[in-house]
Amino acid sequence: MPKRIVILTGAGLSAESGVPTFRGPDGLWEGERIEDVATPEAFARDPQRVQRFYDARRARLAEVEPNPAHLALGRLDRHWPDELLIVTQNVDDLHERGGASRLLHMHGELASAWCRACGARSPWRAPLADGPPCPACGAPALRPDIVWFGEMPYHMDTIDAALMRADLFVAIGTSGQVYPAAGFVDVARHAGARCLELNLDPSMVSDRFHESRLGPASRLVPALVDELLATL
Ligand code: NAD
Ligand code: ZN
Repeated sequence: MPKRIVILTGAGLSAESGVPTFRGPDGLWEGERIEDVATPEAFARDPQRVQRFYDARRARLAEVEPNPAHLALGRLDRHWPDELLIVTQNVDDLHERGGASRLLHMHGELASAWCRACGARSPWRAPLADGPPCPACGAPALRPDIVWFGEMPYHMDTIDAALMRADLFVAIGTSGQVYPAAGFVDVARHAGARCLELNLDPSMVSDRFHESRLGPASRLVPALVDELLATL
């Protein structure tokens, strides 16, 4: 029976809430090339374009709702008596709104702005493209608090430590194309955890899991949470 659980979530978890996943068959993310909107070089070259891209994503948060998969993970968080860590690659706020609190956003959050002048992070719901002042220092130097390609994901020490202690590692709705998250299964497995994948289709790293369950997150995740809570 598992005691210490680490759950990694990806864009597939929010797909049924109406948040588009990352790479479509055409290789674009919402009509943009990744290198035009999701790298530090893109921001240096054309900050307005990058700000507008994330402003549009942030505005859309108000129009989407957590789906049964987010709600089930919120239920697990409330009732699981032992260690639990939900690590999300998602930058939306649907885990929080689904009731999860033992949660880390390893790729940052749309609902946060990061000041390039003073380093402060501030909760943020408005656009950034018009250059609003930083609430902490007043400089018009806010950028999305998002980890772009080529930048270091957040909370890696805490995540690694949790993976090393885990009895059960579950990856949900993630394609296994983006590292270091795609390598978490190797760390957890090497440390002795049982590794379970829930995804719509086989991912790039399916063969590294002990078990893969295929289907929509809204069905698979509530079933897994029932299964886990039944072991208590
Ligand atoms: P991805 O788009 O590369 O992969 C999504 C995976 O989810 C695919 O394997 C797909 O088969 C699966 N999937 C699709 N619909 C599903 C469903 N209903 N149920 C279960 N699985 C489903 O996403 P990723 O692996 O998270 O990596 C991409 C990067 O994109 C991350 O860095 C992340 O920060 C960023 N991103 C975030 C969001 C968001 O915040 N919601 C959205 C798009 C991209
Ligand atoms: Zn500042």
